[in-house]
Amino acid sequence: MQPPEYGSDSQNLAINGNLEYVYRFPGVSCNACNATYGGSRILALEAPPQIQNDPRFRSRWPVSEQEHAAMQQEVASYLDADCAAFETFKPGDNFQPAYYDSQAVPNTDFLWPNIRSFVVSERMKRIVFDELVGDVEIVPIRPRKIGKRNGTALPAALDSGHPENEIHAPETLIEPYYQILVRSASDYPKGGAPISVCPVCKHEAFNDEKRELVMHEEMWRGQPIFLLRTTLYVIVTEALAEKIQKAGATNVDFAPV
Ligand SMILES: [Zn+2]
Repeated sequence: MQPPEYGSDSQNLAINGNLEYVYRFPGVSCNACNATYGGSRILALEAPPQIQNDPRFRSRWPVSEQEHAAMQQEVASYLDADCAAFETFKPGDNFQPAYYDSQAVPNTDFLWPNIRSFVVSERMKRIVFDELVGDVEIVPIRPRKIGKRNGTALPAALDSGHPENEIHAPETLIEPYYQILVRSASDYPKGGAPISVCPVCKHEAFNDEKRELVMHEEMWRGQPIFLLRTTLYVIVTEALAEKIQKAGATNVDFAPV
C-alpha cells in the first residue's frame, strides 16, 4: 500500500500536507557496540508534560547509552510505567502529538504527510481500520496550521489576514483524521535476520548486502496489515486491499509485492 504518484513535490504537499512530531528521544551513541543510531518509531503515547519544555526531548543528537537509559527511566517514572531498557522506549522514538499543517483543507480518504505513518479519514477509520486494532494503533492528528494567507482554501471570513485565525481556528475547520501506526510485522526477510544484537542498547546489526527486501509467503504471520520487517513498507493482504478499494478510498495505491 502506498501513495499514488504525484506530478510534482508541490502537488504532493498540497494534497497530503505535513505531519510533524516535536517531542522525541534522541539517538544513541553506544559504547558497547559502537553504533550511533536513532530509529523513527512513532509512539501512540502523548509526551508527558514534564518533558514538553525540555530541550533534551526535542533533539535527535545522540547521547551515550547511560544517558539514554536514564532518560527512558525518567519518562517511565512520569508515566508511572514499567520500563525495560531499550525495549519500552528506543532511540529516536517520537511522542504524540502529531501536528498537521496543510495549505488546503484535506479532502481525501488517505493522506501521506510523513514517511513513517499514513493518515485516514473518519470514514476510512470506521469502515476499515477500527477492526484492525491490534495490528495497528489509531491516534488522531492535531491540526495546527491549515490554509495559507491569501489562499483560497479558507472561507473568506476566516482568512481575514489575522494570523491568530490561522493558528487557533483549524481544529474546527477540518474533519477528524487519524494516524494509522502499523504494529505488526512480517518475519525477517531472506538474509535479513540480524547478525548481532547489542546486549546493552539492543541494536540489531544487519548484513545489507545479503538482505533481500522482498516479501515471500513464508514470512507472513497471518495479519491483514503489517510492515515488511526492517523496513517502512506497509503490506496488506489482497482481501484488505479490495475492501479499501471497494469503499472508494481516494489517494491510495496498491502495488503487488
Ligand atoms: Zn549498543
